[in-house]
Amino acid sequence: MSATVLASAPQRISFDEARAIVQTLAAARARPIECIDVGAAAGRILAQPLHAPCALPAFANSAMDGYALRAADLPTTGERTLRLIGRQLAGMAPAPEVAPGTCVRITTGAPLPAGADTVAIQERVRVEGNAVIVGAGTAAGANVRAVGEDFAAGAEVLAAGRVLDPGALALLASFGVLEVNVHRRPRVAILTTGDELVPAAATPGFGQLRDSNGPMLAALAAASGAEVVAVRHVGDDAQATEQSLRALAAMADVLLTSGGASVGDADLLPQLAQQHGRVHFWKVRIKPGMPVLAAGIGSALWFALPGNPVSAAATFLGLVRPVLHQLGGREPPCVLHAVLTHAVSKSHDRAEFLRGRLGCGADARLAFAAHARQGSAQLSGLAVANSLGLIPEGARELVAGSVIEVLPLPALWP
Ligand code: AMP
Ligand code: MG
Repeated sequence: MSATVLASAPQRISFDEARAIVQTLAAARARPIECIDVGAAAGRILAQPLHAPCALPAFANSAMDGYALRAADLPTTGERTLRLIGRQLAGMAPAPEVAPGTCVRITTGAPLPAGADTVAIQERVRVEGNAVIVGAGTAAGANVRAVGEDFAAGAEVLAAGRVLDPGALALLASFGVLEVNVHRRPRVAILTTGDELVPAAATPGFGQLRDSNGPMLAALAAASGAEVVAVRHVGDDAQATEQSLRALAAMADVLLTSGGASVGDADLLPQLAQQHGRVHFWKVRIKPGMPVLAAGIGSALWFALPGNPVSAAATFLGLVRPVLHQLGGREPPCVLHAVLTHAVSKSHDRAEFLRGRLGCGADARLAFAAHARQGSAQLSGLAVANSLGLIPEGARELVAGSVIEVLPLPALWP
């Protein structure tokens, strides 16, 4: 059925072509915005720029512990004795005005008293009772944080698309912002397929294995900014699969299936995609993960990922993750380039994702070391990997020191 059923869809396209198609599909979709409490906003993506509702700092204050005084009272040579008339600590009631010839003890962050425009740090003065003896060397206006020196009122504080990271949350609190407009997280539904699969809690019978793609894809989607709305499983039954697909597509922006995407007897998904969806492509010239299929189903974007765990992870990283970033208003996933620590070779022309570890080489450049076990069904290579190294299409052998693209696994890099 394979070749004829999907005759109208692009097939066996290159990885770069597939990336371009999914990018176009994602860019064409709406990115809804929602208003949420800042208490729940960590990690979310700001949908509109934030402008400073007031200046920050809102009042002139001292950058150091010392004595607030008038610049006009600073000696140019020798010393000058000023009369200590009060104290201004952070959070305390206002100290008296600093008249000529007087000063006020001040601590870091405390508001500059009226009349004062300069702070002499305590290491530069001697105090004898009520007399503060100031030496030369303090510049006019020194050690004062001016109103608005951090942000002027009305200045752009955070740009749209900014991750609400700890620094951004600190700014929101400083400006008294309690609610923010953020991109709604893309909703992802996951359907694992296969008669041989049982849940993790079950004991596998003859020829059965536990479903590991469900939790893996859920974790990958969540780490890519998605809200995982369902993780379900269905056996290799066309009717039940179709029902599940429709139900899940109705609740998600992106539907991920695993398994059943190739040309085996139990691989039902390409045919279902053709009958009930709009197939964007089927099969990409990559290893692992060649059978991956992308289609529209209802209003959702559907990625039928291959069942082998490493294939599912690689196709997710290469094709799904950029879409989730785009739908969620995030910057595209970080693409890195690294130096191969060892020579690699392959016996086919497809692009290949190697499981491996990205780290810092002796020359301070990023280095990628491929793992010894690269079987697409082997979880061991995936478990120790922190990234996938992409050996480009066409290349059969790359010498140590070659620079390749590396796709970091989420949680390591944004
Ligand atoms: P398929 O793409 O359905 O032909 O599956 C390819 C291989 O991946 C088979 O060995 C399946 O048993 C295995 N597989 C499929 N789905 C899963 C899953 N959810 N968890 C673990 N292994 C799976
Ligand atoms: Mg299967």
